[in-house]
Amino acid sequence: MSATFLPFTRPSIDEETIAAVADVLRSGWITSGPQVQAFEAALSDFCGGRCVRAFNSGTAALEVALRLAGVGAGDEVISTPLTWVATANVILEVGATPVLVDIDPATRNLDLDLLEAAITPRTRALIPVDLAGLPVDRDRLYAIAARHSVRVVEDAAQSLGASWNGKTIGSTGDFVAFSFHANKNLTTGEGGALVLPADIGPERCELLRLQGVKRQPDGNMDVDVLGGKFNLTDIAAAIGLGQLKRLHGFTERRRVLARRYFERLDPALGLELPPADFANSNWHMLQPLLPPGTDRGAFIAAMKEQGIGVGVHYPALHRFTLYRGLGFRAGQFPHAEDVGARTVSLPLFPAMTEADVERVCMALAKALER
Ligand SMILES: *Cc1c(COP(=O)(O)O)cnc(C)c1O
Repeated sequence: MSATFLPFTRPSIDEETIAAVADVLRSGWITSGPQVQAFEAALSDFCGGRCVRAFNSGTAALEVALRLAGVGAGDEVISTPLTWVATANVILEVGATPVLVDIDPATRNLDLDLLEAAITPRTRALIPVDLAGLPVDRDRLYAIAARHSVRVVEDAAQSLGASWNGKTIGSTGDFVAFSFHANKNLTTGEGGALVLPADIGPERCELLRLQGVKRQPDGNMDVDVLGGKFNLTDIAAAIGLGQLKRLHGFTERRRVLARRYFERLDPALGLELPPADFANSNWHMLQPLLPPGTDRGAFIAAMKEQGIGVGVHYPALHRFTLYRGLGFRAGQFPHAEDVGARTVSLPLFPAMTEADVERVCMALAKALER
């Protein structure tokens, strides 16, 4: 019965962007160069003129942000268990200790009361995550950070194009990290960017991004700090430039489709929907929670049989072997565990049609009737 398979997400790359990539390939300069500089300038415009540097992943942007914030061994960094594991991995990568606190079940983002209670004299930074593109309350977050003099590294991997009270995510705050992974609202295939706060110059950021190499005018070079290999290519930056022009349209389209889901999803199915925030969220994902007791694997298979892809973002990360080994326990973050066990990501991407939403809703009714 089903026509073509409907994945849970798919990037929208136009012919103009494909042609721009071909131009880069023909130009003879394919790694970091003029396209990266142009992409950084365009991202800076998007972020209200703030300094932005491009990276080859969102993970790299987060790691460099922690290093620039001076986070290292002996420091604690507070974040959420309900995120892509990269958020916590970078804390370990810089030698610091991840301190996780449970989510607010209403927003599925960090519970800010628990966050404040978890701050100790060793806390050096906070990493809030805007899950599914729904921003963490920036007013409360920064009031807490100021009260305790801790830095903030916003994991805005999923919230490019979202806003908080009319302010674009990235245009305010401390460090802000974006991801341009293939599944994100703006993609470069793989890529990321870091918005820098005013007290951190771009020079050190650039050193940490590329082997710590400092080039001198006479052709010599020196290295006095250990840097990574985190630079974006011009091939990727050309994709980013083409995507950024369309980001506003992408976000608007996602909002329209998300609204349609809210109108069409049958409350009798017992799905728990996320907050209907059509002002702030960029609708990176639309994630209902399955009714308690539903076999998620069987549900996903039943949707697949009907030609519809469903994702899982994410199981609570403290249940992964690496994090269990650090002492995290089952039952420690009950809300994150519950959401992580019941969440499903329905198809939502700009090229989808209203008819696709209807198709998903009909398939849901069939998959859940049993
Ligand atoms: C995608 C993502 C990252 C990592 O970004 P990459 O570009 O894949 O390295 C980090 N945090 C969150 C919440 C993400 O969704």
